[in-house]
Amino acid sequence: MNDCLFCKIISGEIPSKKIYEDDLTYAFADIAPQAPVHILVIPKKHVTGWSAVMGESDELLAHLMRTAAIVAKQEGLEETGYRIVSNCGPDARQTVPHFHLHILGGKELSEKMA
Ligand code: 5GP
Ligand code: ZN
Repeated sequence: MNDCLFCKIISGEIPSKKIYEDDLTYAFADIAPQAPVHILVIPKKHVTGWSAVMGESDELLAHLMRTAAIVAKQEGLEETGYRIVSNCGPDARQTVPHFHLHILGGKELSEKMA
């Protein structure tokens, strides 16, 4: 867990462009943006991914969703819209094993989901 990239971002060991933070969640700009706006929302607690959410509290899971909506509004995406993506495991090409929601927006996105 101490080797986790996103845990190091939360602790400040690895720098990031902070977008939003509260007691349970942290949001920051993706280092390799795939849209004009590309933000990652993560729990401060190390949760590996979707396969681990069964063990997490409803409070934390709901909080992550609410943070994504707050961040999207804060970044001016509410009117134009946005997409939330969360990859789980190898077929989805999850590369960082710390739960994260991608917020993508700022342009009309591809009509394809996969
Ligand atoms: P995944 O592929 O696991 O769904 O998403 C991981 C995301 O983390 C990718 O979009 C990637 O660009 C982003 N990422 C990887 N390393 C870093 C980093 O050091 N800093 C930031 N801000 N984003 C990162
Ligand atoms: Zn972690």
